[in-house]
Amino acid sequence: MIDVSLRLGILSLLSDLRTRLGISIIFITHDVAAARYVAREGVICVIYRGEVIEYGRTDDIIRSPIHPYTQALLSAMPVLRGLETPGPDRFIPSQELDTQAEDDQGCLFRPRCRFATERCGHEHPQLVALDGGERLHACFYPQARDVVPVPV
Ligand code: SF4
Repeated sequence: MIDVSLRLGILSLLSDLRTRLGISIIFITHDVAAARYVAREGVICVIYRGEVIEYGRTDDIIRSPIHPYTQALLSAMPVLRGLETPGPDRFIPSQELDTQAEDDQGCLFRPRCRFATERCGHEHPQLVALDGGERLHACFYPQARDVVPVPV
Protein backbone atom coordinates (compact mmCIF):
# COMPACT_ATOMS: atom_id res chain seq x y z
CA MET A 1 0.00 0.00 0.00
CA ILE A 2 2.71 2.43 -0.97
CA ASP A 3 2.64 5.17 -3.57
CA VAL A 4 1.86 3.65 -6.98
CA SER A 5 4.97 4.98 -8.73
CA LEU A 6 7.22 3.75 -5.92
CA ARG A 7 5.45 0.38 -6.02
CA LEU A 8 6.15 0.05 -9.73
CA GLY A 9 9.82 0.78 -9.06
CA ILE A 10 10.03 -1.95 -6.43
CA LEU A 11 8.23 -4.49 -8.64
CA SER A 12 10.57 -3.66 -11.52
CA LEU A 13 13.56 -4.11 -9.21
CA LEU A 14 12.27 -7.57 -8.23
CA SER A 15 11.85 -8.48 -11.90
CA ASP A 16 15.39 -7.31 -12.71
CA LEU A 17 16.85 -9.30 -9.82
CA ARG A 18 15.00 -12.42 -10.93
CA THR A 19 16.37 -12.10 -14.46
CA ARG A 20 19.93 -11.16 -13.50
CA LEU A 21 20.36 -13.70 -10.70
CA GLY A 22 18.28 -16.48 -12.25
CA ILE A 23 16.21 -16.91 -9.11
CA SER A 24 12.58 -17.74 -8.45
CA ILE A 25 10.31 -15.40 -6.51
CA ILE A 26 7.25 -16.29 -4.46
CA PHE A 27 5.14 -13.11 -4.32
CA ILE A 28 2.15 -13.16 -1.95
CA THR A 29 -0.45 -10.46 -2.55
CA HIS A 30 -4.13 -9.49 -2.64
CA ASP A 31 -3.39 -7.24 -5.61
CA VAL A 32 -4.20 -9.11 -8.82
CA ALA A 33 -2.61 -6.45 -11.02
CA ALA A 34 0.67 -6.68 -9.08
CA ALA A 35 0.58 -10.50 -9.27
CA ARG A 36 0.04 -10.29 -13.00
CA TYR A 37 3.02 -7.96 -13.38
CA VAL A 38 5.46 -9.91 -11.21
CA ALA A 39 4.43 -13.35 -12.52
CA ARG A 40 3.94 -12.37 -16.15
CA GLU A 41 6.24 -15.20 -17.29
CA GLY A 42 5.39 -17.55 -14.45
CA VAL A 43 2.44 -19.07 -12.67
CA ILE A 44 -0.30 -17.86 -10.33
CA CYS A 45 -1.67 -19.90 -7.45
CA VAL A 46 -5.04 -18.64 -6.13
CA ILE A 47 -5.78 -19.45 -2.49
CA TYR A 48 -9.14 -19.19 -0.73
CA ARG A 49 -9.38 -19.70 3.04
CA GLY A 50 -6.03 -21.49 3.09
CA GLU A 51 -6.69 -23.84 0.19
CA VAL A 52 -5.39 -23.69 -3.37
CA ILE A 53 -8.44 -23.37 -5.63
CA GLU A 54 -6.78 -22.58 -8.96
CA TYR A 55 -3.27 -22.81 -10.37
CA GLY A 56 -1.83 -22.20 -13.81
CA ARG A 57 0.23 -20.04 -16.10
CA THR A 58 -0.37 -16.35 -15.46
CA ASP A 59 -1.81 -15.64 -18.89
CA ASP A 60 -4.27 -18.53 -18.60
CA ILE A 61 -5.43 -17.50 -15.12
CA ILE A 62 -5.92 -13.86 -16.08
CA ARG A 63 -7.49 -14.36 -19.50
CA SER A 64 -9.50 -17.46 -18.78
CA PRO A 65 -10.21 -18.05 -15.07
CA ILE A 66 -12.22 -21.22 -14.48
CA HIS A 67 -12.91 -21.11 -10.71
CA PRO A 68 -15.75 -18.82 -9.52
CA TYR A 69 -13.54 -17.30 -6.81
CA THR A 70 -10.80 -16.37 -9.29
CA GLN A 71 -13.51 -14.89 -11.50
CA ALA A 72 -14.80 -12.84 -8.56
CA LEU A 73 -11.27 -11.56 -7.84
CA LEU A 74 -10.68 -10.53 -11.44
CA SER A 75 -14.11 -8.95 -11.72
CA ALA A 76 -13.23 -6.72 -8.77
CA MET A 77 -10.35 -5.12 -10.69
CA PRO A 78 -11.04 -1.41 -11.21
CA VAL A 79 -12.27 -0.29 -14.62
CA LEU A 80 -11.12 3.09 -15.93
CA ARG A 81 -14.21 4.74 -17.34
CA GLY A 82 -13.82 5.48 -21.01
CA LEU A 83 -10.74 3.31 -21.39
CA GLU A 84 -12.03 -0.16 -20.60
CA THR A 85 -15.31 -2.00 -20.45
CA PRO A 86 -16.13 -4.98 -18.22
CA GLY A 87 -15.98 -8.42 -19.81
CA PRO A 88 -19.42 -9.76 -20.77
CA ASP A 89 -19.41 -12.33 -17.96
CA ARG A 90 -18.37 -9.85 -15.27
CA PHE A 91 -18.89 -11.62 -11.98
CA ILE A 92 -21.01 -10.00 -9.27
CA PRO A 93 -20.11 -11.87 -6.08
CA SER A 94 -22.84 -12.66 -3.61
CA GLN A 95 -22.93 -10.32 -0.64
CA GLU A 96 -23.84 -13.20 1.63
CA LEU A 97 -21.50 -13.49 4.60
CA ASP A 98 -19.26 -16.49 4.90
CA THR A 99 -21.34 -18.44 7.41
CA GLN A 100 -19.93 -21.89 6.83
CA ALA A 101 -19.61 -24.02 9.97
CA GLU A 102 -16.21 -25.44 10.95
CA ASP A 103 -17.32 -29.03 10.36
CA ASP A 104 -18.99 -28.32 7.01
CA GLN A 105 -17.75 -30.87 4.47
CA GLY A 106 -18.74 -28.88 1.39
CA CYS A 107 -16.87 -26.43 -0.83
CA LEU A 108 -15.36 -23.52 1.13
CA PHE A 109 -16.59 -21.00 -1.43
CA ARG A 110 -20.18 -22.32 -1.51
CA PRO A 111 -21.79 -19.60 0.70
CA ARG A 112 -20.67 -16.96 -1.81
CA CYS A 113 -20.90 -18.94 -5.05
CA ARG A 114 -23.76 -18.30 -7.45
CA PHE A 115 -23.06 -21.58 -9.27
CA ALA A 116 -23.31 -23.82 -6.19
CA THR A 117 -25.43 -26.96 -6.38
CA GLU A 118 -26.53 -29.48 -3.78
CA ARG A 119 -23.36 -31.48 -4.41
CA CYS A 120 -21.23 -28.48 -3.37
CA GLY A 121 -22.92 -28.55 0.02
CA HIS A 122 -21.83 -32.03 1.10
CA GLU A 123 -18.73 -32.82 -0.95
CA HIS A 124 -15.36 -31.07 -0.85
CA PRO A 125 -13.85 -30.40 -4.30
CA GLN A 126 -10.25 -31.61 -4.60
CA LEU A 127 -7.52 -29.94 -6.62
CA VAL A 128 -7.51 -31.71 -10.00
CA ALA A 129 -6.00 -31.16 -13.43
CA LEU A 130 -8.13 -29.65 -16.17
CA ASP A 131 -8.26 -32.04 -19.12
CA GLY A 132 -5.17 -33.82 -17.83
CA GLY A 133 -3.03 -30.70 -18.33
CA GLU A 134 -0.96 -28.48 -16.02
CA ARG A 135 -3.91 -26.26 -15.14
CA LEU A 136 -5.32 -27.15 -11.70
CA HIS A 137 -8.66 -26.26 -10.13
CA ALA A 138 -10.85 -27.21 -7.16
CA CYS A 139 -14.40 -26.81 -8.48
CA PHE A 140 -16.99 -29.36 -9.57
CA TYR A 141 -18.08 -27.11 -12.43
CA PRO A 142 -15.03 -25.34 -13.86
CA GLN A 143 -15.94 -23.05 -16.71
CA ALA A 144 -14.05 -20.24 -18.41
CA ARG A 145 -15.84 -16.90 -18.24
CA ASP A 146 -14.85 -13.61 -19.79
CA VAL A 147 -14.68 -11.41 -16.69
CA VAL A 148 -11.59 -9.28 -17.33
CA PRO A 149 -12.07 -5.64 -18.40
CA VAL A 150 -11.09 -5.12 -22.02
CA PRO A 151 -9.96 -1.94 -23.83
CA VAL A 152 -12.67 -0.19 -25.85
S1 SF4 B 1 -17.51 -26.48 -6.20
FE1 SF4 B 1 -19.56 -25.57 -6.30
S2 SF4 B 1 -19.63 -24.01 -4.67
FE2 SF4 B 1 -17.47 -24.55 -5.03
S3 SF4 B 1 -16.77 -23.01 -6.48
FE3 SF4 B 1 -17.41 -24.79 -7.69
S4 SF4 B 1 -19.59 -24.40 -8.20
FE4 SF4 B 1 -19.01 -22.98 -6.56
